[in-house]
Amino acid sequence: MRLENFPDHIRPYILPKLEGDLFYRCLGCGREYSIEKLLYICPDCGQVLLIYDRNFDSLKKMSGETWHELFDYRKMVDIPALKGIFRFHEFIGPMLPLEAILYLGEGNTPMIVANERMQELTGLTFFFKNDGQNPSGSFKDRGMASALSYIHFLIEKGYLSEVLAICASTGDTSAAAALYAAYLQPKVKSAVLLPHKKVTSQQLSQPLGSGARVFEIPGVFDDCMKVVEALSERYNVALLNSKNAWRILGQESYAYEIAQDFQYQLADKAVVVPIGNAGNISAVMNGFLKFYEVGIIPDLPKIIGVQSEHANPVYRYYLESDHTKRKFTPIAVRPSVAQAAMIGNPVSMPRVIHLEKQYNQTAGRQRVFVVQVTEQHIMDWQLLANRNGHISCPHGGECLAGLMRAKQEGIISRKDQAVLDSTAHALKFAGFQDMYFHRQFPREYEIHPDTALMNTPVLLRPEGLDKYPEPGKPLYGEDFNRFVERMVTEIARDLKLQKT
Ligand SMILES: *Cc1c(COP(=O)(O)O)cnc(C)c1O
Ligand SMILES: [Zn+2]
Repeated sequence: MRLENFPDHIRPYILPKLEGDLFYRCLGCGREYSIEKLLYICPDCGQVLLIYDRNFDSLKKMSGETWHELFDYRKMVDIPALKGIFRFHEFIGPMLPLEAILYLGEGNTPMIVANERMQELTGLTFFFKNDGQNPSGSFKDRGMASALSYIHFLIEKGYLSEVLAICASTGDTSAAAALYAAYLQPKVKSAVLLPHKKVTSQQLSQPLGSGARVFEIPGVFDDCMKVVEALSERYNVALLNSKNAWRILGQESYAYEIAQDFQYQLADKAVVVPIGNAGNISAVMNGFLKFYEVGIIPDLPKIIGVQSEHANPVYRYYLESDHTKRKFTPIAVRPSVAQAAMIGNPVSMPRVIHLEKQYNQTAGRQRVFVVQVTEQHIMDWQLLANRNGHISCPHGGECLAGLMRAKQEGIISRKDQAVLDSTAHALKFAGFQDMYFHRQFPREYEIHPDTALMNTPVLLRPEGLDKYPEPGKPLYGEDFNRFVERMVTEIARDLKLQKT
């Protein structure tokens, strides 16, 4: 829709006013730093940072209803910069001019309600939000859109030049980083570090296809992270891991979209997310908190973080109910099908601790929960969901397993509606499905395939046909008729079809 056609009371707000005054704040010592420099950790104490807006309170001048209308009308805008996560510009990068914003089709991912059969089976109403439908196939595109828009802004301002964007990854971060960096060629080049043999072949193909320099490092993600941190301390590189607080801002859009999709009524909603490096759950908490503070949502939804038994440091931290006695201890991870969350020392743990406190305090009761699930349940629930019309990745399966666990623990009831994060596209993790269907899981995964969930192709090459078509060698005449006839008979027998 053209700008002049928006109603008078909304038109002045459609284009963002760029009034944000952002700064980094250290979660350790509280010091504040200008955003003119790309910082990842506090130069003083080394803790992680979050980005705040000195003008945040001015957003409260507009009523919640007007914000609702504005976001609804922005869906109709024909300006690419505002079509993705920056529909919520005032909450993500309120100083970024539209020319600096990168839009590659991220955000606006669909929420798909579970069918009757799944609702009966689980005794719950739930949705999958398909973040695998982002351009590089995972939610990481949300954070890369904000981080690379910010880097683009610094380049245009002349604060930065010849950027080498670098990250360590369990697969999806590097796919997203390489994609967004590739769009800014030649001003930005990218390099990614991946744990050798710990990403799927699809995930490996992505940064390669985007032209990034790809390094495979022995060990697991936590080892890659150490290397990339040491690099960023000594050399002039732009770190794109979720240590980078700009990633968190973009990922907050996930919460904003859920709020909008439920017409801002979240009292009886639960948002379920897997936890790996804990950037995502931090962003989800922060996003809902911001909308709540401005009066856009009257209630904070429940948030349920889920971890596998094989990578559960956050779960263990919260096992201690007395918060004064909690102590974070990194763990050694074991193989997990929720591979993108196979992290023993989450970078965003200080953010989780800070925001979980703030979230529960603001809500006046416990609204953030962390549950743990088995590898078996992750796979079984993923496969079952996909047999009912979803395109869930293992992390989406982890969310559904976590939802069932939460129901058992009394965290969730029939009254709640849950949104499960299918953080990536099922296709990225097709290899785990293969292992399940062919009973090829290495023992360490502790997964025993349920025959009822298995599925393998049926090769039709029946006895008694002497000729089969081959590529470049088609059959003709009687040979071809005999072949078709025989195939029809075999398929009809297999499917027990009735003659018409
Ligand atoms: C990164 C990632 C996660 C984990 O998210 P964190 O922000 O690291 O907690 C989960 N699922 C997928 C598909 C991912 O790419
Ligand atoms: Zn500090």
